[in-house]
Amino acid sequence: MAQDRIVIIGAGPAGMACAHTLTAKGRPCTVIEKEDMPGGLCRTLDHGGYLFDIGGHRFLTKSDEIDKLWREVMGDDMLHVKRLSRIYYNKRYFDYPLSFFNTFWNLGPFESALCVASYLKSKISRVDDSTFEGWVINRFGKRLYDIFFKTYTEKVWAVACTDISADWASQRLRGLSLRIAIKKAMLGMKGKSPKTLSGEFLYPRTGPGEFYYRLKERVSEGGGQFIFKRTLTGIRHNANNVSSIEVEDARTGKREEMPVEYLFSSMPLPSMIMALDPAPPDEVLQAARNLRFRDFLVVNLILDKERIFPDQWIYVHSPEVKLGRVQNYKNWSPAMVIDPKKTSLGLEYFCTEGDELWRMNDVDLINYAIRELESIGIVSRRYLVNGFVVRCQNAYPIYSLGYQKNMDIVRGYLSRFTNLQTIGRGGLFRYDNSDHALLTGIYAAKNFLGAGHYDLWKVSAEDGYLES
Ligand SMILES: Cc1cc2nc3c(=O)[nH]c(=O)nc-3n(C[C@H](O)[C@H](O)[C@H](O)COP(=O)(O)OP(=O)(O)OC[C@H]3O[C@@H](n4cnc5c(N)ncnc54)[C@H](O)[C@@H]3O)c2cc1C
Repeated sequence: MAQDRIVIIGAGPAGMACAHTLTAKGRPCTVIEKEDMPGGLCRTLDHGGYLFDIGGHRFLTKSDEIDKLWREVMGDDMLHVKRLSRIYYNKRYFDYPLSFFNTFWNLGPFESALCVASYLKSKISRVDDSTFEGWVINRFGKRLYDIFFKTYTEKVWAVACTDISADWASQRLRGLSLRIAIKKAMLGMKGKSPKTLSGEFLYPRTGPGEFYYRLKERVSEGGGQFIFKRTLTGIRHNANNVSSIEVEDARTGKREEMPVEYLFSSMPLPSMIMALDPAPPDEVLQAARNLRFRDFLVVNLILDKERIFPDQWIYVHSPEVKLGRVQNYKNWSPAMVIDPKKTSLGLEYFCTEGDELWRMNDVDLINYAIRELESIGIVSRRYLVNGFVVRCQNAYPIYSLGYQKNMDIVRGYLSRFTNLQTIGRGGLFRYDNSDHALLTGIYAAKNFLGAGHYDLWKVSAEDGYLES
């Protein structure tokens, strides 16, 4: 098979891991990426010497294979970071993970007693467990759900928690309950703790993108090639075999056809289905359309102030601002700022392409974001030096109620293809972390090489860590 006939769409974690595994085994391939650098959502942007992660990417995994790869590639440039993060709600800061005394102090004795009563009530009268709301109430009680889960979750997804599948909660908060959180807070937890409560993580000294640049070097040395600023727009096939793809040059808009003998795709699953030519049956197209993503933008700011807050990030639960989370990159790694007397922040907004926030121009967004930050007392706008905005489409697969039915239809249809595997977060429509994306890329390559027989749809998030 010619090297340019084995094609990988996307140079994010999944695509890069796939290319790395293939080239390490002497199978060169071509990676096609619509951006101009590797890393996908894990890329790192350089703005005048200040380095910006897209949000913040902890390197945390239960997979020995991924842990080994990270350490091998990054060597001494991997930092061990002690996690410090808090929740801002109702003008107060709550430790995260919640600590018993801090929570009790912030809520006050009356509210705390109500939370305990509400928790006890949830033990006696359980509610429907199939929605995110029901799942959390049954484990934490209604009152804690209202304070710590509802507002933030609705900011992330922009839909009522009753319309979100419990799959999301059980995948992200598996093993976590009020009982465990209290036990951890009061006694320190012995034995296996759910990974959400992890106190330490790895982080590349100059941000996660460095890991992907190093993988790119290895892939290139192994004979792999990268074509950046190209978007896949079409996939020609004859019933069960992909024969060629159409790619568009992002700079010129020119489209060209590339013959393909094997295709790995980490682009969003619905867009990939829409690109198939001939088009799949209507039922499949409709199911794909129903699989939706939440988009996301980060307003990155540089401020002329040495210390703003000590956390790596703060979750902003307060409903009075749209801000979802704020990252402080020098607290991830001091090398993220070129001038240690300044601070760089990433203000994360969950949104939907085309909505009011998404359409706001960058200058207005920067002003809007700094005003929100000022309104919750984090930093005054007079320290602002400059900023820029990054918009990310398809950042979060939405586990809306009934999404599994649509997944079954799409998966069933794709099973006919003998030379196509979808990989990664978007390609498998899984709300998972980069370790999972890396694993799916590795396993897909092993399937191709005949070195394994993995069902990628089932690559377990159980081995991934959980996000709070
Ligand atoms: C705000 C935020 C914080 C996160 N925090 C963490 C964390 O702390 N730790 C962690 O491990 N994970 C974290 N994640 C998850 C992590 O970012 C993803 O799991 C990971 O990036 C998924 O890798 P991927 O390769 O599957 O997809 P992506 O990273 O999305 O890469 C897909 C690539 O495909 C390209 N592409 C898409 N369509 C096309 C097309 N048509 N043609 C050509 N190229 C295309 C994209 O440009 C992109 O580069 C976070 C995610 C977000 C959004």
